[in-house]
Amino acid sequence: MAHVLILGTGGTIAGTGHDPARAWAYQAAQLGVGQLVAAVPELAGLPLVMQQVAQIDSKDMSWSVWQALAQALQAAMQDAAVEAVVITHGTDTLEETACLLHHLHDGRKPIVLTAAMRPATAADADGPVNLRDAVRVAREAARLGLGGVVAVLQGRVWSGAAVRKAHSHALDAFDAGGALPLAVLDD
Ligand code: ASP
Repeated sequence: MAHVLILGTGGTIAGTGHDPARAWAYQAAQLGVGQLVAAVPELAGLPLVMQQVAQIDSKDMSWSVWQALAQALQAAMQDAAVEAVVITHGTDTLEETACLLHHLHDGRKPIVLTAAMRPATAADADGPVNLRDAVRVAREAARLGLGGVVAVLQGRVWSGAAVRKAHSHALDAFDAGGALPLAVLDD
């Protein structure tokens, strides 16, 4: 059955803390990708397959994690049932991963990275909406026959070749060095 593959790698989007009011006191990479998907009501019933590729704070990104990610993506590109891939990632090295995948990827299918600035246990966690939007973009791009690497954050779609983290703590932390987003999402 045609589906979107969701690859989990950790990050703040999978982070947990003990006090929802103290969003900054948390540990990254605590929840599995299945738990992240289960927390988004709009994703219920969609054809999604989850795979945990790594479970790291992305400040600790390494060549071995990038290799595992590249191998999972290569398998996904060859699997006719995978129509698009979403990657949940930490924000610290999202731009390096996006740039690497942009250069490795043949552009056949959509690859959508997403992340969060607040952990999953924060009262106003941004991960669930970003993940929902990333899956929407992935499915719509596949439907339109579009491929390539993008990042979806805070309602905007950034080129994987240009996206960069521009703020250390602002919710809206990403830009493309002055370039406009490829798309802005609305309802
Ligand atoms: N240190 C975290 C990470 O990059 C920060 C985040 O995800 O926002 O995994």
